[in-house]
Amino acid sequence: MTGNNEKTRVTIAYGDGIGPEIMAATIEVMNAAGAQLEYDEIKIGQDVYLKGQESGMEPGAWEILRRNKIFLKAPITTPQGGGYKSLNVTVRTTLGLFANVRPCRAYTPYVESYFPKMDLVVIRENEEDLYAGIEHQQTNEVVQCLKLVSRPGCEKIIRYAFEYARAYGRKKVTCMSKDNIMKLSDGLFHKVFDEVAKEYPDIESNHFIIDIGAAMLADRPEMFDVIVTLNLYGDIISDITAQVAGSVGLGGSANVGENFAMFEAIHGSAPDIAGKDLANPSGLLHAACLMLVHAGQPKVAEKIMNALLKTLEDGIHTGDIYSEKLTTQRAGTKAFAQAVIERLGQAPQHLAAVQMGENAQPIEVKLTPSRAKAKRLLGVDIFLDWTGEHRDPRELGQLLESLTGDQLQLSMITNRGVQVYPGGFPDAFCTDHWRCRFVARQSLHGTHRSHNMAPDVIYYDIISLLQRLMSAGLNFIKLENLYEIDGKRAYSVAQGA
Ligand code: NAD
Repeated sequence: MTGNNEKTRVTIAYGDGIGPEIMAATIEVMNAAGAQLEYDEIKIGQDVYLKGQESGMEPGAWEILRRNKIFLKAPITTPQGGGYKSLNVTVRTTLGLFANVRPCRAYTPYVESYFPKMDLVVIRENEEDLYAGIEHQQTNEVVQCLKLVSRPGCEKIIRYAFEYARAYGRKKVTCMSKDNIMKLSDGLFHKVFDEVAKEYPDIESNHFIIDIGAAMLADRPEMFDVIVTLNLYGDIISDITAQVAGSVGLGGSANVGENFAMFEAIHGSAPDIAGKDLANPSGLLHAACLMLVHAGQPKVAEKIMNALLKTLEDGIHTGDIYSEKLTTQRAGTKAFAQAVIERLGQAPQHLAAVQMGENAQPIEVKLTPSRAKAKRLLGVDIFLDWTGEHRDPRELGQLLESLTGDQLQLSMITNRGVQVYPGGFPDAFCTDHWRCRFVARQSLHGTHRSHNMAPDVIYYDIISLLQRLMSAGLNFIKLENLYEIDGKRAYSVAQGA
């Protein structure tokens, strides 16, 4: 919105199940609060999927989404059975929505929660990691899913988390990763976090390994403020946080990119209570408030959030948060929305009121330009589909030793990451999927092919090795080149090596 009361056009979708009821309630509250918005509706969800649109979105919807740039989405029902693409993943990746932001706080004593002081935000990377959807079955027995993590992807989300902390007066950003195991991919995330954290000395920063981090979240969520993490971990821990806050029906989330943003409740379409005027509209209302801040209307968001808190404090509760002790009026969706509307302009008496700066702005991040790095090819991992007579690693090892040629030599074979040749335990269980590592013959003795730092290995060495493997009847399924980048080994070593 601009300062002259020009309305912002946003795209809305009513979705499935309880979607239409909570969207109607949300729009009524926003309009009553003076939101300067105009709405363009698109159809998404179950009916659209069943009509044969595999993305779950009607044709023409993309054009509206691209034009308006802001999308408020009610939950949808994904039909059972295969073949339907996740609408959320499609929208996130197509519109470059790299940050998934989920604020999560307790509303004790007005909504029961074990953790009365819990008030945290999970900021999840939304585009990379195992969600790139690159999967292959490579042998009878083995499938793989590629985990892709990029430096710009890490930097974008991590800077976003620190900028968010500054913008919202938060004190600490915690990184969660599994870099004790995935030293390169999660290691990159942690490394970029440490680099970026140094630029924000006013914000405290720390790191947890994701397993203990998730355990602490379930047990002591009050110790966290802003959490930034990779896609899969973020998906899991944001549900843990919503659950332990005691209020799945209350939370909203923002999916934000450089040009587009999508806002939604964290819960699903709740078909069990659809059409009964039972649903709690607070999650979508909360999402709408995140949207209003994004649209440059922070004071309207503040007004709605405070009226919502006052409604909860006054004991007006939908069935999902009903408590014999705390509820004064059990309300349906419509009555709850009316109660919020009646309280617009009021502030909560006991719960901390929400305060938004007049000029609260969408968060912008600037990336460090990427710098060219020296890259040398040191060898290759060739993956084979092989069983032999008895799946004996020594049989495969000896066969490969006889095929290596003058330039390359076999340095090891692993099966599911565990070194089985040379050495290895004879009882180790082996699948039909073997990673065979070849390096420059000289490099095992510590010298290079030439003195002018030319790559130790050239593609031709690899191609001629592959030809020899093929002539010997071996079945290769893929290659991974082994690089040294900026003077550092840029690949993992085997477990047990
Ligand atoms: P759900 O979140 O819809 O429901 C879980 C439980 O919480 C149900 O008992 C439901 O009645 C209750 N609940 C949820 N929201 C509520 C609200 N606002 N007020 C009161 N009670 C509420 O999860 P589910 O049952 O696993 O999924 C149902 C459908 O929703 C599935 O098709 C799923 O794919 C879809 N889903 C969609 C989204 C989305 O569109 N973003 C997210 C999650 C699930």
